[in-house]
Amino acid sequence: MEYVSSRNKNLRVSAAQAIATGISPDGGLYCPTSFPQLTHADFQTLLSLDYKGRAAFILGKYLTEFSAEELNDFAQKAYADEKFGGADTAPVVTLPDGRHVLELWHGPTCAFKDMALQMLPHLLTASLRKTGETRTCCILVATSGDTGKAALEGFADVPGTKIMVYYPVDGVSPMQKLQMVTQQGENVEVVAIEGNFDDAQSALKRIFTDKSVAQKLDENGMMFSSANSINWGRLAPQIAYYVSAYCDLLSSGRIKHGEKINICVPTGNFGNILAAYIAKQMGLPVNKLICASNANNVLTDFFKCGGVYNCDRPFYLTDSPSMDIKISSNLERLLFYVSGQNDVLVREMMDSLAKTGRYEIPAEMREKIAADFDAGWCDDKGTAETIRTLFEQQDYLSDTHTAVAFRVYEEYQKATGDTTPVVIASTASPFKFCKPVAAALGKQIETDGVGQLDALHALTGREIPKGLASLAGKQPRFDRVVPKEDILDTVDLLVNL
Ligand SMILES: *Cc1c(COP(=O)(O)O)cnc(C)c1O
Repeated sequence: MEYVSSRNKNLRVSAAQAIATGISPDGGLYCPTSFPQLTHADFQTLLSLDYKGRAAFILGKYLTEFSAEELNDFAQKAYADEKFGGADTAPVVTLPDGRHVLELWHGPTCAFKDMALQMLPHLLTASLRKTGETRTCCILVATSGDTGKAALEGFADVPGTKIMVYYPVDGVSPMQKLQMVTQQGENVEVVAIEGNFDDAQSALKRIFTDKSVAQKLDENGMMFSSANSINWGRLAPQIAYYVSAYCDLLSSGRIKHGEKINICVPTGNFGNILAAYIAKQMGLPVNKLICASNANNVLTDFFKCGGVYNCDRPFYLTDSPSMDIKISSNLERLLFYVSGQNDVLVREMMDSLAKTGRYEIPAEMREKIAADFDAGWCDDKGTAETIRTLFEQQDYLSDTHTAVAFRVYEEYQKATGDTTPVVIASTASPFKFCKPVAAALGKQIETDGVGQLDALHALTGREIPKGLASLAGKQPRFDRVVPKEDILDTVDLLVNL
């Protein structure tokens, strides 16, 4: 299997090279040139496997330089029962009203990012070995809240790696911040920036493709990589849980063989929903993918209003901070595929985005996208109402991001009358966002400390996840705040670590 840059198909690499480097030198994202198809026999095999086996099986279709033994070994370690609270790594819960919820937050940091970031360190260190790389791998991460902690947890004290996380100082929940600043490990660094996620992600893309920075790092025996969803090694493990959810629905009789499902995903950087799109391209029976946004609804406008992507709009801090994003990186991969792998066109559009903050796609691409996708958005008020009705009517406690997806799906159904069974991707534990969740249920929580966990537990009777309860008593280790203009200078911190 070969990977090419979305902006230049002549830049061809293997899976291991794509994972080791994270992003293409021209700023493009590495994309597989074809989608392996899941045959009937494949589904029979998948049905007989547990989550770990299914993940290794799907990864094997893309990471062709990795042996089945290797991938199975990685999956056993990444999705170990003690890390995910049991063998049911990504359970599909069905609500009384029949909607299915794919819970992706049973990992150590309580967000779906664990599904990929528990796997990525194994894939990355093996990729470094396979490509003959001997330099220390410096992983730079921009986070809107959840990737940061999941990446720190995955890479802490992994030999041959260092990791630095940038988070928006006012843009994460108190619990997300506490998780990051108390991170243990000798090879980790955490920096708050005065700016938003887009500022951090754009600065990192510039650093990754800056030759003089790369040279300086090289002189110190180091190289860069990424743990954001621009890295194919982040995205590939996410395909597996959509396939696995389908198998679970099938084997429990909740759907029939070949029956189509809809998938609704609360979206920010467009990584999670892109993984669902890829699963569909591989032959998973999917009708529509519904892209759910919060008030930062640039994607809704893109999907619903004539294929114009326009960042010239306000940036809102919302109760679903992990989706507070205006530049959704992985949309670039979708454009690459729906344009028929037209790298020249993708480069033009991304240049236009960088220079003018907008681009427009041709009508044929719009039609192709409309065949697979629908979209909608919901503000904080709608999110809160949805949390309350889900709790009262379905006895289900949802976090703020998942609630956005529920709401958007309800509106999609009202507008279309579509009765296809739906899987809602549930992306975080409600305990990561105690304050807005409790407020939605009519109770104000005052504290920003771990006491908020007990308050939400008392209010709802739901169990506090271990990974969050264990934060009690931990001391903050990182308090650096830098203006966004100074991100480049902070790379020295990592070099000297
Ligand atoms: C990261 C995140 C999202 C957005 O996922 P993308 O892959 O960036 O679209 C949604 N919800 C939660 C809780 C997240 O952490």
